Amino acid sequence: MKISSASEYAESLRRLKTVIYYKGNKIQDVTRHPATSPHVRAAALTYALANQEEYADLATAISHLTGHVISRFTHVHQNVEDLIKKIKLLRVLGQKTGTCFQRCVGLDGINAVYSVVYELDQKYNTDYLERFKQWLIQIQDENLMVVGAMTDPKGDRAKGPADQSDPDQYMHIVKRLGDGIVVRGAKLHMTGAVNSHEILVMPTVAMDERSKDYAFVCAIPVDAQGITMVFGRQANDDRRDKEERIDMGNPSFGTVGGEAIIVFEDVFVPNGRIFMNGETDFTGLLVYRFAAHHRANYGACKTGLMDVLIGAVSYLSQIQGTANASHVKDKITEMIHLCETLYASSIACSAEGCQTPSGAYMVNTMLANVCKQNVTRFHFEIARLALDLAGGFIATLPSQYDLESENLGPIVKKYFSGVENIPTEHRIKIGRLIEAMTGGTALVESMHGAGSPQAQRIMILREGDLDKKIRLAKALLGIPTGDKKS
Ligand code: SF4
Repeated sequence: MKISSASEYAESLRRLKTVIYYKGNKIQDVTRHPATSPHVRAAALTYALANQEEYADLATAISHLTGHVISRFTHVHQNVEDLIKKIKLLRVLGQKTGTCFQRCVGLDGINAVYSVVYELDQKYNTDYLERFKQWLIQIQDENLMVVGAMTDPKGDRAKGPADQSDPDQYMHIVKRLGDGIVVRGAKLHMTGAVNSHEILVMPTVAMDERSKDYAFVCAIPVDAQGITMVFGRQANDDRRDKEERIDMGNPSFGTVGGEAIIVFEDVFVPNGRIFMNGETDFTGLLVYRFAAHHRANYGACKTGLMDVLIGAVSYLSQIQGTANASHVKDKITEMIHLCETLYASSIACSAEGCQTPSGAYMVNTMLANVCKQNVTRFHFEIARLALDLAGGFIATLPSQYDLESENLGPIVKKYFSGVENIPTEHRIKIGRLIEAMTGGTALVESMHGAGSPQAQRIMILREGDLDKKIRLAKALLGIPTGDKKS
């Protein structure tokens, strides 16, 4: 049955038997538990937007497999226009949620696996792509949410998968059976895992011949036997768990995506759901393409968030009577400049995308890495400017209990007020939103989501073609080429 609305999405999650723990207790209903429900609502917006005429062109696509109208979050990019529409869609969703809406990770996994498995089949005469297409058609037709599961625990980082003293530090195949495989291990930091329908498991690093048991791709339902999830803590989770709506900052959609560890304890995967099985020479390509697709997104979703943050700071400046000060205008101008620069890099890596041998389109990998690298700096600078303009009251603001107290409420309202005729609650709510968007969990996510900064720098240097740059410099000055270097 196709999920056609936000409410049907929530209903579909309630039908699943996903095993999720949080603070030591089992979550019975992920759609209603205070820890997870904001993140469910954020993901639900990806479903709702497809029904709004204004956004349908961005939020839906035509499946190249069936010709059906599908969610763009299940689509294999067929051209540059698809890549750009995805970027525009992510910015809109970032603007509407002010947080992570999670569904892009599965989309990027789908696109990476599709293109890589095509090339794998060409080399080894396997039929993985056909299997993948059958699975993907179900995802598209039922409009399911997929969590792209790549990051392994990694144990001792100085050692590869085959050299760990505990083999479970990298997810691996423990048994090969006639009709499938049995897998064990864990995936960390899984955005949207607790409110997805399917897990697309991918290897986490490039692997050598000794790591065949670690080199696999497969799809597993989230509630398959042997799967347990543990939902992570956040800097502000006490406020969220007690549903302190004002103090949460973003009460509707929460902060970041709601991440979990997924533990796989001897989970059986039937052959039809296995899309790579021991072909270590394709693991590096898969990681590379997945990472590039996801890094391209960051200049889009984060730009949407920054739009909200800039709006919040601007409104706060109006409330506080500082909006016309020249330094305030200058700092807001700087925030806008940084925000649009991020967006420009997302658009650029999409516009410079190209077709892979499978027919699916791929972003420009150099520009995608530059895009994510920019996020690890610009988001922090925008947050710094936001805190500069907001003022110190964010750090000392009394709680919403004091605001709502009969005795203390009038005092809080009097001494935390701004210009006349704007309720103090507005200043406090906006302050709390800025606090949530510039605080610990939000910034950590911007730094490490889609790969830590060093991962992008490695790719930037690798793809930077320094030899060519040296030749250019030499040519300009008439220095002969063909010597030892270049
Ligand atoms: Fe999508 Fe951004 Fe969340 Fe990644 S961080 S899943 S790109 S919204």
